[in-house]
Amino acid sequence: MRFCILGSGSSGNAALVVTENARVLVDAGFSARKLATLLDTVGESLDRIDAVFLTHEHGDHAAGIEGLKKFPQIRVFANDATARAVQSGLDHRPAWQIFQTGGRFLFRDLLVESFAVPHDAQEPVGFRFTSGHDGDLFAPRRSLAWFTDLGHAPQNVHECIRECEVVVVESNHCPDLLKNDTRRPWSLKQRISGRHGHLSNLATVELLAAVASPRWRRIYLTHLSRECNSRAAVELAFAAIRGTLNTCEFSIVEQGQSTPFYELC
Ligand SMILES: [Zn+2]
Ligand SMILES: [Zn+2]
Repeated sequence: MRFCILGSGSSGNAALVVTENARVLVDAGFSARKLATLLDTVGESLDRIDAVFLTHEHGDHAAGIEGLKKFPQIRVFANDATARAVQSGLDHRPAWQIFQTGGRFLFRDLLVESFAVPHDAQEPVGFRFTSGHDGDLFAPRRSLAWFTDLGHAPQNVHECIRECEVVVVESNHCPDLLKNDTRRPWSLKQRISGRHGHLSNLATVELLAAVASPRWRRIYLTHLSRECNSRAAVELAFAAIRGTLNTCEFSIVEQGQSTPFYELC
């Protein structure tokens, strides 16, 4: 299984997971044109994408679904509430594939599991993607967890990320920068920092410190707020835990940045 992040932040989120038999996007929060450009930079194209897995209906995760109608082979996986919310803003009907939150299913050679997360959307989820088999030397079992929008991390998130080699998690804001921000009204600040908003740098550090799995090989810190976070603030918040989790690499993904492919092997 190979994985790269095409972009992450309030201006759009999307990632690509490639296995032997499947090419799927996780979220499609950019226009189809922008997705095409981003895929081109990693040698891929929308013609070759088989499916999109949606975490929730917010525009920074689902804005590209409208433009993907030009690619009818792309199936769109979401739970019922998310599909209804996205569909209400569309002119066409995508090839919806409805899943139950908390369940697991196979898409080709990719095992997909969804997990409820606390966020101010209809029925937001995180995902765990697994490919390969136990004991297979050439295609060992490997998992990746994806949790980008959540106000706090309940126990099910702890359990999910423990057994993964790669964890993608948001590190959305620095509480001090959010508090001092003059552009956001008080109500929005409350929403962001609330139990159904986004994880602060400190909340993400606490989550990772609480689980601290020896299986982790790479952690992507994503969905950084442009105004209320910075690479320096994230570096500072994670300095201590980097030493503890020293078999694991950290990758900070800033807005407007994409990552090279990472091979889970
Ligand atoms: Zn959201
Ligand atoms: Zn988001």
